[in-house]
Amino acid sequence: MADTGVDLGLECPSCHEPWLRPTNLPGRYRCVNCMHRFEIRSECPDCGMHSTIARMSDTAILTCNSCGASMLRAI
Ligand SMILES: [Zn+2]
Ligand SMILES: [Zn+2]
Repeated sequence: MADTGVDLGLECPSCHEPWLRPTNLPGRYRCVNCMHRFEIRSECPDCGMHSTIARMSDTAILTCNSCGASMLRAI
């Protein structure tokens, strides 16, 4: 199969396949493989560290800068 720039981006926390895609809502992602939806939290669910998320960026920070936990939360 020719790789024609298919954007295999973020790994889904649910099915662990790289099919997580941004939706038209800021900070929201949806896995097109398992259809789970996620949102980026502004604070880490693990250590509570706040993160300054550049919501305009398409390379949003999805992991905690402090402890490396995922900032994605299923919705
Ligand atoms: Zn998934
Ligand atoms: Zn953390």
